Amino acid sequence: MKILVIGGVAAGTKTAAKLKREDRNAEVTILVKDNDISYAGCGLPYYVGGVIENKASLIVNTPAKFSALTGAKVLTGKEAVALDRAAKTVTAADVETGEKNVYEYDKLVIAVGASPIFPKLPGTELKNVFVMRRPEDAIAMRELLDTGTVKRAVVCGAGFIGLEVAENLAAKGVKVSVIDMAEQILPGFDPEVAGYVERKLADSGIVCFTGTKLEGIEGTDTVEKVLTSRRAMKADLVVLALGIKPNTAFLADSGLETAKNGTLVVDGAMRTNDPDIYAAGDCVTVRNRITGAPAWSPMGSSANMEGRVAAKNLAGGEESYVGVLGTGVCKLPGINVGRTGLTEAAAKAAGYDAVSVTAVVDDKAHYYPGASNFIVKMTADRKSGKLLGMQTLGPGAVDKMTDIAALAISMNATLSDLENLDLAYAPPFSTAIHPFVNMINIMENKLSGALDSFTPAEFAAGAAEGYKFIDTSIQPSLPSLPYLDYTKVDESFDKYAKDEKLLFICAKGKRAYLTQNKLKAYGFTNTKVLEGGHTFNEIETEE
Ligand SMILES: Cc1cc2nc3c(=O)[nH]c(=O)nc-3n(C[C@H](O)[C@H](O)[C@H](O)COP(=O)(O)OP(=O)(O)OC[C@H]3O[C@@H](n4cnc5c(N)ncnc54)[C@H](O)[C@@H]3O)c2cc1C
Repeated sequence: MKILVIGGVAAGTKTAAKLKREDRNAEVTILVKDNDISYAGCGLPYYVGGVIENKASLIVNTPAKFSALTGAKVLTGKEAVALDRAAKTVTAADVETGEKNVYEYDKLVIAVGASPIFPKLPGTELKNVFVMRRPEDAIAMRELLDTGTVKRAVVCGAGFIGLEVAENLAAKGVKVSVIDMAEQILPGFDPEVAGYVERKLADSGIVCFTGTKLEGIEGTDTVEKVLTSRRAMKADLVVLALGIKPNTAFLADSGLETAKNGTLVVDGAMRTNDPDIYAAGDCVTVRNRITGAPAWSPMGSSANMEGRVAAKNLAGGEESYVGVLGTGVCKLPGINVGRTGLTEAAAKAAGYDAVSVTAVVDDKAHYYPGASNFIVKMTADRKSGKLLGMQTLGPGAVDKMTDIAALAISMNATLSDLENLDLAYAPPFSTAIHPFVNMINIMENKLSGALDSFTPAEFAAGAAEGYKFIDTSIQPSLPSLPYLDYTKVDESFDKYAKDEKLLFICAKGKRAYLTQNKLKAYGFTNTKVLEGGHTFNEIETEE
């Protein structure tokens, strides 16, 4: 059987390699537009910053090495330009000569990925304007940085890629500003979580301007200024990280079903509406694993798994891809960010009775050197008790928290399934009750009413108006607020009326909860805890 694969990075090479392992007799040919295959797109920002020193490390396999390892044939510099489904052929043009050749297939795999959105704006053709997708982008950017001429950079787009590049430019001593037309950075995170990260980035010298649209670039020959809806910004280097679009334009008249964003629609077998054509990776829309709704999650992780499923089915199997949770993790200066499942907003939009809780929890035994916090926002469905999503921030192993949550959501776990999980503990790694289990307990306390709180989003929206703010930290930390040490309070405590509206604020939320718990027992009826305390929330301390 002749299997033609178009595309040779994550999804294409994974499909081809797995298929040859499943069926040695399959004649597998990869057609790929670029000269490189199988490169480490995810590693490119770290090459820019010098964390990855050697450009050869960016190429996981050369075409020759890949062919020798797998038995699949690789034809580079061949751009697929037309598909004839009736004749079962793909026409590809040689990128250098333009010469066209026709390739026959019994089964076709489309793994053409996506390309950066390149806006039609004045000045985008100037020197020192970059996108970040292929090794040559990162190599050219680092060569420029090594000349020492880049003092200021503007990164347009505050998703994972834009922020990773921003971090690495800053690590090279460049003053970096990030603009994004959205009202928040980090799409896929709830706004208050993204807002916290934005403040942390500012602390480390990377200033983000949200609600700010790129309007053009100015310069003579080389970029000098970025024009935005807010103001002009000086720049020696510009990165366009405005998102990506699937490389499916050449399939426009093919009759293959596409979603509105141009991605190919596939079933669980990774098959398009043509039974002989499969697709995988950044060019497809799959399903959200929780809601079943169509989902585009262009990640290297899912591209590989989708390719594997397509290969197994091409080899006669009956595999079904279960869909994505939108799991992702990203390293930023001093803070890692991870997410999986639904945000609170997405959970509500999907019709869940979504409850969220935000807390600051120890990431390892507090006495162990290097111990810090995780800031976690967890979302669950009140009705079924199922975990729906989690976002985690912190300097430590955010990926571990994210992956435990991803596993739990994938297994349809309820909070009670998770409350006594036997997770690994030793002081250098974790806490005796693991931070994930700690979060489950906090969520259960909130659902049972034991914890009566305002979320940071509710607080920012003014829910605490009319409440008396009280500092319940371990020692006074909010100078203009009255201070209360719950360990010194007993039944006779009468500083406040029993029905007075009191908001307890401490560093993380825990001591405020302990204060509430004690005062409730003494008959106080109107107390609230501020989730995430003054670590996460910005507290206006002027009376
Ligand atoms: C800077 C950066 C950082 C990233 N970091 C992460 C990360 O940390 N974690 C993560 O999970 N994901 C990350 N990603 C995303 C990840 O790289 C992509 O999801 C993944 O590369 C998608 O693989 P793919 O094979 O579907 O598509 P692509 O990587 O886009 O590959 C498509 C292939 O198709 C070829 N092609 C396109 N059109 C044609 C045509 N007409 N004819 C022939 N060949 C064609 C291209 O040459 C290429 O070989 C990152 C991406 C970037 C750019």
